[in-house]
Amino acid sequence: MIEQKHKPQVGFFDFSGCEGCQLTVVDLLQTRLELLEAINIVEFREALTGTADHLDLAFVEGSCTRAEDEARLKSIRDRSTRVVALGACAHIAGVNALRSSTSTDAAKKAVYADQAHLISSYDPRPIGAVIAVDAVVPGCPIDPEDFHEILVKLLQGRTPELSDSPVCMECKSREIECVYPLRRPCLGPITRSGCGAICPGNGFYCVGCRGTVSNPNLEALSQVILDHGMSSDDLERSLSMFLNWQLGVSKPCEAGDD
Ligand code: SF4
Ligand code: SF4
Ligand code: SF4
Repeated sequence: MIEQKHKPQVGFFDFSGCEGCQLTVVDLLQTRLELLEAINIVEFREALTGTADHLDLAFVEGSCTRAEDEARLKSIRDRSTRVVALGACAHIAGVNALRSSTSTDAAKKAVYADQAHLISSYDPRPIGAVIAVDAVVPGCPIDPEDFHEILVKLLQGRTPELSDSPVCMECKSREIECVYPLRRPCLGPITRSGCGAICPGNGFYCVGCRGTVSNPNLEALSQVILDHGMSSDDLERSLSMFLNWQLGVSKPCEAGDD
């Protein structure tokens, strides 16, 4: 049980994303009833109606993908003591940044053809590019245990820190066999750990959903990928899934974007 004299007011907000992170929270709250006793959820479109003038904690899911999103994000920031990026879309622009390798204008035309002019959109970005963010729950989707741990720390007035060691460390400590000999372009050497190396551990490979460590060595990663018989295109495909924003993928001229 988390002892609280005053129940902190907590809100959940969504921008561009699949809402999978919010669903993870809804699932978790059904089994961790002590959390519901410790907080007062005052805004959460996916679970209840209602709004609040002040929030102690605002969890924001999704990327900022339109100029008009910025005003809503700033309004959440203005009425919240602390803002937390919930999931990869909010933290690092996530899969939304996949389209950063082309112009927004070209992407709109490809999807909406002659109706493209009706669509408001700009280069997807994490919420931290628009407002100050106090903490992050990483991943796509978030890990419920991560969320629980980070929420408890925030309720205790502590600042949750992300791990800064790579996923490879978790592979080693769990004796998971490396997938490089299978020619899988794993991003474990440059990705923040904390997920238990769940993808390599299940026969897939890391595509970087928790974001990069603070000093990613791309040159060494590229070399080890080539040394294992994979190509720079293989590496590029892995990097583009989640890391376009963090790695600053360049794009053609944005003329004509909103
Ligand atoms: S981080 Fe993943 S699960 Fe969460 S909203 Fe974005 S796409 Fe969905
Ligand atoms: S499978 Fe990936 S994360 Fe695991 S040791 Fe190999 S490169 Fe690192
Ligand atoms: S292994 Fe990589 S892609 Fe998979 S959950 Fe962990 S950080 Fe995300």
